[in-house]
Amino acid sequence: MDLQKLVRKNVWNMKAYSSARDEFKGEASVFLDANENPLNDRYNRYPDPLQWKLKEKISTVKGVHPENIFLGNGSDEPIDLVIRVFCEPRIDNIVAIDPTYGMYEVCANVNDVEYRKVLLNENFDLDADALLAKTDDNTKLIFLCSPNNPTGNLMNREAVEKVLNNFKGIVIVDEAYIDFAADATWINDLGNYPNLIILQTFSKAWGLAAVRLGMAFASPEIIKLFNKVKYPYNVNILTQNFVIDELDKLSLRKEWVETLLKGRAFLVEELSKLSFVEKIYPTDSNFVLVKVNDANGIYKKLADKGVIVRNRNSVSLCAGCLRITVGTDQENKILIETLQSF
Ligand SMILES: *Cc1c(COP(=O)(O)O)cnc(C)c1O
Repeated sequence: MDLQKLVRKNVWNMKAYSSARDEFKGEASVFLDANENPLNDRYNRYPDPLQWKLKEKISTVKGVHPENIFLGNGSDEPIDLVIRVFCEPRIDNIVAIDPTYGMYEVCANVNDVEYRKVLLNENFDLDADALLAKTDDNTKLIFLCSPNNPTGNLMNREAVEKVLNNFKGIVIVDEAYIDFAADATWINDLGNYPNLIILQTFSKAWGLAAVRLGMAFASPEIIKLFNKVKYPYNVNILTQNFVIDELDKLSLRKEWVETLLKGRAFLVEELSKLSFVEKIYPTDSNFVLVKVNDANGIYKKLADKGVIVRNRNSVSLCAGCLRITVGTDQENKILIETLQSF
């Protein structure tokens, strides 16, 4: 892979903004370099632009070097950055599976980059050949999502491998739900694929959606390009310090995942008994995609009772489907009892 050929010329040639915090990194006691107000101690200083302390800690949890980690304002930030780094508006294009997470297409549209969709097969699995056939010389990125949203399933490993081996551009594998799937992360394969970018997030299994912290794992060369283009202080000090402490809750997070997987099994069991449920798709995530006989009607009746699920009726291959997040035991019970009353 020739990284320089893939990256937008302006990004490759530009110099990154250099902040006061970038230029001096040693120990000192008098900081008169950043025009901060010295009188409001604690939050008055600009934070570490590259979040090294937090990355060191994530590094030990994820088993990757800090240089392989990018941190952003949710996964939303690396999704947008990867397009801005690699795709020339109105010239380059992106290929992605369909259906999948809506943000890829939104970010492509914002950046005026063509977005090409390739339907998953009837098992919601990836057809590597169809995906590769949709690429051309101007395809810079392929977006995959595994486990996929809204379908819930992991993508077939051999198919992903085929895409990684045969596509000359960048392959993004979004693993937002990986903590709910057994041993399937692509993180350990980073060294084998210089064109691989993995996305993970603190918004799902870690229970920190409000904190806004997303992770991208890739080669140090790709991470450096992200750092060049991002806002200098993209992760504030409250988030950095807070998540450093939250990372100590590894065993609690594992308990949460076990609880949610039990909740998921309960939902699948109870949903399957309902006459209007036509199909429950296999899931590796903290949600279940369910086909019902009247998605719009059931969605509305649930909403009228104060129970909100996600209506995926108008999404490709998901006609008649509702996406239901696993909640607390109490919430799951309320959902099932409400459905039983229809
Ligand atoms: C929820 C979700 C995310 C998380 O996005 P954040 O910006 O990190 O909250 C990322 N990708 C997919 C596919 C998701 O469903």
